Amino acid sequence: MIGLSVGEPDFETPSFVREAAKKAIDEGFTHYSPAAGYDELREAVAEKLRRENGIACDYESEVVITPGSSSGIFLALLALLDPRDEVLLPDPAWFHYSTLITLCGASAVGLPIKFEQTASLDIEEAERLITDKTKVLILNSPSNPTGIVFSKESIKLVSELAGEHDLIVISDEIYEKIIYPGNVHVSPGSLAELKQRTITSNGFSKAYAMTGWRVGYLAGPSEIIEKVTALNGYTLVCPSSMSQKAALAALKDPRTVSCIKEMVDRLSGRRKVVLEALAGLPGVKVHPPQGAFYAWVDIRGTGMSSEEFAYRLIEDERVGVLPGTIFGENGRGHVRISFATGESQLGEGLERFRRFVIHNASRHA
Ligand code: PMP
Repeated sequence: MIGLSVGEPDFETPSFVREAAKKAIDEGFTHYSPAAGYDELREAVAEKLRRENGIACDYESEVVITPGSSSGIFLALLALLDPRDEVLLPDPAWFHYSTLITLCGASAVGLPIKFEQTASLDIEEAERLITDKTKVLILNSPSNPTGIVFSKESIKLVSELAGEHDLIVISDEIYEKIIYPGNVHVSPGSLAELKQRTITSNGFSKAYAMTGWRVGYLAGPSEIIEKVTALNGYTLVCPSSMSQKAALAALKDPRTVSCIKEMVDRLSGRRKVVLEALAGLPGVKVHPPQGAFYAWVDIRGTGMSSEEFAYRLIEDERVGVLPGTIFGENGRGHVRISFATGESQLGEGLERFRRFVIHNASRHA
């Protein structure tokens, strides 16, 4: 079985980050940390956000460290939503969001992503979908599963929408460093008009290959961060102390820059391999990813539904991809291929994928 489905980099956590964690354990960082995380890490996060993202924030009142960014997003939703509230969610989007929204007793309302010319959110449709119950809009750029990077213009349109309807924007920027040439990551929180209504969510899982360490963070208006910190303290208590020390090394050590570059170069190479493998395949179209490590593949021309395609690909060729429908209504007729997998597995998986499509096209004809 070749898995092209998981969203986890196959790279190792950099050795100096691992060393920092070992040192932290030996130095006794084995106790609870404050619920908001260590001051030193919050300060380093605030400094990173200022330097790299153009977001100025006060680390003491506007930054909280959480055990991974998923829990940060959940706690932010819990802090913001009342039962029966609504959240505008790009469709397709990472499937955790809708589950987390449901757990808060609220509803996710799908906002279609348009793929014409340059991909963007359908703002006119958003105007139609917003009700007096709509409280939050989630953005995720670079996006899982589509690989889209929203342009500054798209984000400006979102900011007008959010301002007009008094929405809080949760901007999930976990893939910000994994971006391909010609694309630029823009943080919504860096726009003056969005600053006071944006919660920026990020973490260490993807850029630093630290999925198992469970460190993420949120930055945003102090009244929301204060609530998230209280929720963190009562539920998850605090992020892991030694993992925070490792995360601090990842942010501060200059060697990180070359580690990230090396990873993105490898992913760029794999992206090219995926695009070449899928080019010209009958019934298959791919939206070249601008960021993240997923190819969003339109398989409508094969005559199969996304579920049928994914299940039969497992049965016939032992290759796992995710059916687009798990990412939303708009994922119909699509599958997601993850290229976070090592080169040789990826090459073999793509070869089988090609054989499957060609074989079915000839049966179809
Ligand atoms: N956001 C998105 C869009 C993701 O794809 C993922 C991981 N698949 C996460 C957040 C979760 O990251 P973390 O490990 O920090 O919880």
